[in-house]
Amino acid sequence: MIELKQISKVYGSGNKKTTALSGLDLTIGKGEIFGIIGHSGAGKSTLIRCINLLERPSTGEVWINGVQMTRLGKKQLQKERRRIGMIFQHFNLLSSATVYDNIAFPLRLSGTPKSRIDEKVKELLALVGLEQHGSKYPAQLSGGQKQRVGIARALASEPDVLLCDEATSALDPQTTDSILKLLLDINKQFNLTIVLITHEMHVIQSICDQVAVIHQGGIVEQGPVANVFLKP
Ligand code: ADP
Ligand code: ADP
Repeated sequence: MIELKQISKVYGSGNKKTTALSGLDLTIGKGEIFGIIGHSGAGKSTLIRCINLLERPSTGEVWINGVQMTRLGKKQLQKERRRIGMIFQHFNLLSSATVYDNIAFPLRLSGTPKSRIDEKVKELLALVGLEQHGSKYPAQLSGGQKQRVGIARALASEPDVLLCDEATSALDPQTTDSILKLLLDINKQFNLTIVLITHEMHVIQSICDQVAVIHQGGIVEQGPVANVFLKP
């Protein structure tokens, strides 16, 4: 369902060029939890941001469900992006909006009717276990609760893919495990494809089906987690 073909990304120009990705190919199947692991600077963040074209690849093609994302104009891209949710290391919530309004935000942007928004936000609050917290502000929540809001907001437009950019790196080990469990539940419940980047082996081993190891902008190893990494 996700296919990256010969993706390269070069930042800067002249003698200040940095090659973040070079000729990278990757195929991710529907319903998979696909982990991408690598050291700092390997190109993980650039790679995941190329999937939803937050970063435009310098060369190569990004295909999602048979649509070539790299070919789309601005307007079409905006529409197609609703099929791709994303969560972040530092949550990226609106601090002046309540939990409810953070989750409702993408629904309001897409012009969803008010009654449907209310129904959907309540459903999402229940899904992530925050029924009692809709009227709070992000500053009143723990890190794990903030990431639950991030997940609910990402799922509001019922995406086919969820991209997770170091989503548990700011959380303690116990909270990390509860967020990973939630991601696994959501993957099973909606057959949602999840792509996650991390520098933590534990994250890969606890929920991923497939893993790719990225080094200096290229995939150096790939396969089922049990084949690539022996269990400790
Ligand atoms: P990772 O997420 O694995 O740490 P990144 O994708 O952030 O790796 O970075 C890959 C390489 O690209 C690094 O050398 C980094 O310095 C460089 N890079 C990332 N973003 C930019 C940018 N906006 N401008 C210039 N260089 C960048
Ligand atoms: P439908 O055919 O109505 O979409 P589904 O079984 O796909 O039925 O969904 C059942 C419920 O779960 C619906 O209320 C829908 O809004 C919600 N749902 C489906 N997919 C997702 C998703 N990826 N994220 C959040 N909620 C979802």
